[in-house]
Amino acid sequence: MKLITERSQIRDLVAAWGKAYGRNPNVNKFAKSLSMLDPETATAADVAAIIGSDAWSRPEKCHECGLPANILILVGEELDYESSTARLCLPCLEKALALMVINTAL
Ligand SMILES: [Zn+2]
Repeated sequence: MKLITERSQIRDLVAAWGKAYGRNPNVNKFAKSLSMLDPETATAADVAAIIGSDAWSRPEKCHECGLPANILILVGEELDYESSTARLCLPCLEKALALMVINTAL
């Protein structure tokens, strides 16, 4: 289980970009610019300005309701290609908890 916020997204992106894409000369320039960011103070807009798209820094969508959220919980297997992992927003977590409480109180 992992908390996802704008800050955690930026930290993960800065740490992972060079490893994932550093060998591709077309995107290596992004890795260098991203590595120069301070992941503790950089904003999503800073990341988008470097990459030229907000696809890597915009809020992720909840897998239950489909809405983007600034804070999510990642549950399930460690996130990987084809992993059984889901992101859940607070309202959906509250609904899940309420469903469990209602059905266990009977
Ligand atoms: Zn949701």
